[in-house]
Amino acid sequence: MAKADCITPKVFSCFNSAYQNAELPKLCSELFAQQQSTWQQMAEGYASLEFIRIREIICNGCTVKVQFNPKRIISTGADVDPAIINKRKCFLCLENLPEAQQGIQYRDDFLILCNPVPIFPRHFTISSIRHIPQDFKFSVDTMLDIARDISPDYSIFYNGPECGASAPDHLHFQATPRRAIPVEWDAVDVRRRKRFYYKNHVAGFTLINYGRSVIIIESSVKQQLLAFLQIMFDEWKKLLRFTKEPMVNVLCSYQENIWRLIIFPRHKHRPDIYFKEGNNRMVISPAAVDMGGLIVTPLEKDFLNIDAKLIEDIFVEVSEQQAVIDNILDKIV
Ligand SMILES: [Zn+2]
Repeated sequence: MAKADCITPKVFSCFNSAYQNAELPKLCSELFAQQQSTWQQMAEGYASLEFIRIREIICNGCTVKVQFNPKRIISTGADVDPAIINKRKCFLCLENLPEAQQGIQYRDDFLILCNPVPIFPRHFTISSIRHIPQDFKFSVDTMLDIARDISPDYSIFYNGPECGASAPDHLHFQATPRRAIPVEWDAVDVRRRKRFYYKNHVAGFTLINYGRSVIIIESSVKQQLLAFLQIMFDEWKKLLRFTKEPMVNVLCSYQENIWRLIIFPRHKHRPDIYFKEGNNRMVISPAAVDMGGLIVTPLEKDFLNIDAKLIEDIFVEVSEQQAVIDNILDKIV
């Protein structure tokens, strides 16, 4: 089927102009209301948020939230083996979307959709209209545009193909209410911020004693920000001899004319405890939200049993080592 045939019935509204201040959040609210009233699966998903439970646990002096959310088993327990991914029907391709699902066409390339299995009271998936793989370098320019256009109400995030994306073969971001993820607060805590870079309108920070490697990049000049990211990722790939993109989760927001990227460099996707047998197994599969301090547990036993030590150990296990990150950052200062 031609793209035009596929997309027309899926477009609830369009966002096209160069910059329409606060227009996109308004369109998101309208889409949300329309989908709530016409798409039963989505309405049920948001109704189920009333029954989720939250625990707050202090890890490395910061609050980590644990959310018991049984519906997230689809995503947290997703099989991301490339052989399985290649065989399954891609759930983000236009022709496979549920009949009642519609979205906001964002310029020519993306469709903003309500996520029917939410973690947040407003949770959108921003999906490429074409079936192309997750690729940070290819998509970061667009990610910055979307973050600006969807501000001030929402932040967006990207999960690398090998660290949390349940559709690694189909480029997508997700949008969440601004500062719904704890790291968005920690990232502006001056007691933790340590600056490693300040040049050409770009500032770079890490967070002291955060228990997981994190790089924060801020800038009001898009081209300078993109240039910095290009250098950083090139150094990263060179140092680790990667041919693929480094493993990352990235949160992105835009406030008061400044983009802020919060980058979690990853060493591995799932912790060993995910692969244990029987009762010893914990279904915890960290992606951007979890690395950002909101850990989703689809199983009640995991929700009840998880503690600070376990969370701190998982963060260390799946994060890239700080020494490696320091080495990369040293090369670009
Ligand atoms: Zn697809």
